[in-house]
Amino acid sequence: MPLNPEKAFENSIGPGILWLVHPSIAENLAMYKFREFLPVPVLDSIGSILKEEGIIDGVTRLPMRYYTAHETTSAGERYAYSLPPEDVCPNGYCSRNYSELLNKMANSQKVREMRIAWKADVVMFVHPFFDVINQAAGQAYQPKYMGDRNNKHLAYAVAGWGYNLFADQYYSMHELFHLIGLGHSVHNTSQPGTNTARAFIGKYTDNDREKTVYGVRSFMAYNDVCKVTARVNNCIRFDHFSSNKRYVELDNGEKLRLGSSHDNNSQTAVNFIREVSNYSKILR
Ligand SMILES: [Zn+2]
Repeated sequence: MPLNPEKAFENSIGPGILWLVHPSIAENLAMYKFREFLPVPVLDSIGSILKEEGIIDGVTRLPMRYYTAHETTSAGERYAYSLPPEDVCPNGYCSRNYSELLNKMANSQKVREMRIAWKADVVMFVHPFFDVINQAAGQAYQPKYMGDRNNKHLAYAVAGWGYNLFADQYYSMHELFHLIGLGHSVHNTSQPGTNTARAFIGKYTDNDREKTVYGVRSFMAYNDVCKVTARVNNCIRFDHFSSNKRYVELDNGEKLRLGSSHDNNSQTAVNFIREVSNYSKILR
């Protein structure tokens, strides 16, 4: 909890995050190490993507970004990293079933109090293990309709750390983007995107001798779904949101549009990011 909630940062430059750190990660890493391994690189990479999308804060005219909720103290800034409260992980045990965990977070009185105290718009749980029950490396709620006041109750995500000592940034980034409404490709049968909140999957033929066909996907599209849809062995990820205005350069010298009017996660981000950035102001 912040030492002085009065000093907690209130801003709408983008979604402010409260990070819940699984006890076994916290045990193995000092908090400053955690920050360096995960939030800093993840938020930097998210910032670069949002900058490329040209999503600008109306007041400062600067690119919008995600940031870690924090307060200013005489010793500097204190960040909103915390062990999960008891009503999320009873006796320090956190479910490895991400759906169950999300549900607990969304219903936790303690998490609600922490969100209010830190003025955090969204909450991200960092898990050391993947969810083998649901075969997931992350999971998040996704707001579907703009301006619905209940959207603030969808501000929860969980992501796996990854296989390595260094955290895999992709899972956390992917889940944090779901929180501003972004969706998967229409070819994801288990979780198809709604409206235009959809990632893009396409393909192209290289001009090598074998005329190799490569899959192409935007940031939110699954690699395995891309491979199956495009019937290819390799699918290249472009770290942009799908958009009818985004063109990417391919190795065969041609340009490909990384989206359409239906596959337009970029527009979805524009639609939702300001609303999400203001969740903490309407929490009670
Ligand atoms: Zn996803």
